[in-house]
Amino acid sequence: MTASTRPVVWFLTGSQGLYGEETLAQVAGQSRRIQELLAAVPGAPAELVWKPVLTDSASIMSTVLAANADPSCVGLIAWMHTFSPAKMWIAGLDLLRKPLLHLHTQSDVELPWSTIDMDFMNLNQAAHGDREFGYIQSRLRVARKTVAGHVSNPEVVARIHSWMRAALGYDALRSLKLARFGDNMRDVAVTEGDKVEAQLRFGVSVNTYGVNDLVEVVNAADEAAVGELVKEYADAYRLAPELTAGGERHEALRYAARIELGLRTFLTEGGFNAFTTNFEDLGGLRQLPGLAVQRLMADGYGFGGEGDWKTSALLHTLKVMGRGLPGGTSFMEDYTYHLTPGSELILGAHMLEVCPSIAEHQPSCEIHPLGIGGREDPVRLVFDAQPGPAIVVGLADMGDRFRLVANQIEVVTPVEPLPKLPVARAVWRPAPDLRTSTEAWLTAGGPHHTVLSSAVGSEELSDLAEMLRTELLLIDDSTTIREFAKEIRWNQAYYRLAAGL
Ligand code: MN
Repeated sequence: MTASTRPVVWFLTGSQGLYGEETLAQVAGQSRRIQELLAAVPGAPAELVWKPVLTDSASIMSTVLAANADPSCVGLIAWMHTFSPAKMWIAGLDLLRKPLLHLHTQSDVELPWSTIDMDFMNLNQAAHGDREFGYIQSRLRVARKTVAGHVSNPEVVARIHSWMRAALGYDALRSLKLARFGDNMRDVAVTEGDKVEAQLRFGVSVNTYGVNDLVEVVNAADEAAVGELVKEYADAYRLAPELTAGGERHEALRYAARIELGLRTFLTEGGFNAFTTNFEDLGGLRQLPGLAVQRLMADGYGFGGEGDWKTSALLHTLKVMGRGLPGGTSFMEDYTYHLTPGSELILGAHMLEVCPSIAEHQPSCEIHPLGIGGREDPVRLVFDAQPGPAIVVGLADMGDRFRLVANQIEVVTPVEPLPKLPVARAVWRPAPDLRTSTEAWLTAGGPHHTVLSSAVGSEELSDLAEMLRTELLLIDDSTTIREFAKEIRWNQAYYRLAAGL
């Protein structure tokens, strides 16, 4: 994975010159204190950097231009501690290209009732300063998240951190390079999409490479490195006896290691953080990449099966958003249902490629026939997903726009063991119930490929959708088909209107 520089978020404070130097010095001091309180909370996904108080149009514009140009700056937090007449913000906000969070807070929690005078009122007036700022952002149609409350409140900080995570994902997606080995699976509709629009809206650049370009690198993998990697497999997983050194199918494991080394080399050299494969187009590859894809996903690479570049880009984005959090994030596919009334479940899996970051226990490394593709049996990791709350999200191209569809889910322990199923899998209960979830998903045209994450949730996802100005249809405990169908219809009109604004 390419490591980026330490990401930062700039903390901006708005005011104006009319207050005089003494008051502006107090504003600066209190703004620093708020920034320090926020920065001191452990677990911040980005560093919060204080910037001098902004009091005029020229300094606002130059700050925004500097933020746009700074690759380490992933977003801006703005707070109008005092009244900052918002015409000063027009030029700057109009040029802003980074995510924005409007923090509606104030210096202190409590009012000093017995000592309040007009000096205090003059200094502590975010209550109307931020209303002026809210107005101009809405007037200019600035995409942003608004968070209200004092920064000593953990819920306020958590919402800011969620937005920071979305900003990190957004930043990664803006510069993402994605390599496709082969095209889409023939005749499949939902994995198609407008790659030019994706590059404009999301930033990701999607390009195809002949799979035999990869085969060359796979074949050139160093024998000693193959041996080292096979040892690493033996340490990390429960190897099926036939795959161990001396086992009758050990050579297949060595070839799987060769694929991993080749893929890593290809991706690293090209600066790619996401990729796709297609079992219909394997060129000279002897196995469909299974184990290699699983391990690359665990390292943060985006992946989509059958040429699905949209899911691959989304997976890398959510991987970046979830970095450092408990839980995992994987490529996923809705496969089959358990329809016992009252305890309906979805069984999700893929041919091979499920990320071990969502595994409950140490995966086993196995080899089984694939049934399609006509190649040698591929090596793969097999496991059950860790139970707990999670989200599945898919990205579809609706022709005039992209649409994200997400469902809150509860991953559960399978009702019974699955000894005959030779792939990694997740079993989940979708919110609010299987009938509503699936009817809503199908009505929305959500894809069968998704990203499953137990690391990031609907708040981070909503923040990301806002930054991307992309529709998000969320299916959760409050969803009813009647309201959901209306939301789809209204969105149909809204996104067409919004495109013209
Ligand atoms: Mn698939």
